Amino acid sequence: MKNFKTILITGANRGIGLQLVKESISKRFYTIGTFRNKQKSEKLLQIISNNITFLEMDVVNEKSISNATKKIKYPIDYLICNAGINNGYGNIFDDDHSHEKMLEVLNVNILGCILTIRHFKKHLNTNAKVILISSILGTQAHNGSTATIYRASKAAVNNIMVSISEDFKSERITVSAFHPGWVRTDMGGINATLSAKESAKSLIKCFENLRFEQTGKLFNYDGKVMNF
Ligand code: NAP
Repeated sequence: MKNFKTILITGANRGIGLQLVKESISKRFYTIGTFRNKQKSEKLLQIISNNITFLEMDVVNEKSISNATKKIKYPIDYLICNAGINNGYGNIFDDDHSHEKMLEVLNVNILGCILTIRHFKKHLNTNAKVILISSILGTQAHNGSTATIYRASKAAVNNIMVSISEDFKSERITVSAFHPGWVRTDMGGINATLSAKESAKSLIKCFENLRFEQTGKLFNYDGKVMNF
């Protein structure tokens, strides 16, 4: 039996995903970071460690996910579905809510999580934890009209998290969603309240403390349960 934890993080080449990789390595986890475009992934690919593997993977391309699963060497303890997009913060009358752009947000944020979990299920360790990175914008209590389709996608992420947690209960695999806070990344913007490092540090601690009894819940990055 291996005596180290293995974590796989999707969308690991920048933003929160990249910091999750760095925190995981500092915790001596065996870390797998996925990226979809080599040209945009220098910061990830330049990390030097004996405990890291980089995998090319687009979360909405099944062939690419399936190819990535073939390169997994150890059972995965933490599967982190972090990859996501927000095409814009406008409302339904803005250009960022064209049919095509809305489909892209729903595809990456919802189906990307489902496809990742479907394909990597066979590599999950006993008592593994599956984490979907969601958002407070996907909770019904959070009112506002901006980023309409992004909010809807994250509401769906919370919903599929519950369904998948039920599917995995008999195997005692924990499935939870996390709001990472408002984070200074390309998506969060410069006015956000948290650095990616602050968010990732707190998230990794929460992932480690997560118990099976908490499956099916949404958490804030500080570990507090959130209603959705
Ligand atoms: P970000 O800086 O924009 O990074 C997004 C990441 O997702 C990038 O690595 C991107 O890869 C990847 N990605 C997008 N589409 C993909 C696809 N089809 N296949 C594989 N990877 C894909 O965003 P972030 O702020 O770090 O956000 C990370 C997660 O946190 C997202 O799920 C987001 O919704 C959530 N979140 C963020 C905030 C915030 O304030 N920042 C708040 C709440 C929730 P490329 O470089 O190739 O595009």
